Amino acid sequence: MLEADQIDRLFALLGAAAPEENRPAPRDRAIEAKLGRDAFGSLVGVVLSAQSRDAMTALAKRQLLARAATPEAILALDEAEIAALIKPSGLYNAKARNLKRLCSALLERHGGVVPASRQELMDLPGVGRKCADIMLRFVYGVPVIPVDTHVFRVAQRTGLAAGRTEAALAADLDCRVPAGWRWGAHMWLLNHGKRCCRARRPACAGCPLGAICERNGVGSTSA
Ligand code: SF4
Repeated sequence: MLEADQIDRLFALLGAAAPEENRPAPRDRAIEAKLGRDAFGSLVGVVLSAQSRDAMTALAKRQLLARAATPEAILALDEAEIAALIKPSGLYNAKARNLKRLCSALLERHGGVVPASRQELMDLPGVGRKCADIMLRFVYGVPVIPVDTHVFRVAQRTGLAAGRTEAALAADLDCRVPAGWRWGAHMWLLNHGKRCCRARRPACAGCPLGAICERNGVGSTSA
């Protein structure tokens, strides 16, 4: 695993091209309370994004929210109608079922307001650690590091963090990433995974992390 000075170096290298990503988001209780109501659309989008491309997720979310924009309105639809509206995002029958359960739980437990704590988010049907952390990071302005497939791969390969699952690795990242890098970490790791440290044929030869990456150190470039 990378030592503390190597972790600093990794983020300094990754962040050099996009230092603006490391800017804290404003957090304010009044904004949070407002977002708690407006955040419903974001939560729907995050749930629909599972195994779906961004454009398809956006289309499915737009179609659903145009027809029903509140938990109450979605609960009033039957599952088949929800499934038809969100079909572009894939897995639409399971997602329709989950959305009904999610809306029901939101109304029963939180009066329809999306909660702003990880545990309360994860207690909602269909919301795992990644969904909860995306909501915290991008909607509520909390400096957590959501772990998707790209972040998982880069963190594993470099030796930044370890874990058999995305949730386990997210917990390890929480312990290992210093406060000074936490705002930028998600987008930097995500973009590095998409552009350079790809699942197949990572571009190790030109990688800025080549000198500190554990996987590069053993000379393997396979996924
Ligand atoms: S050196 Fe290779 S494996 Fe390591 S981060 Fe760069 S692209 Fe990924």
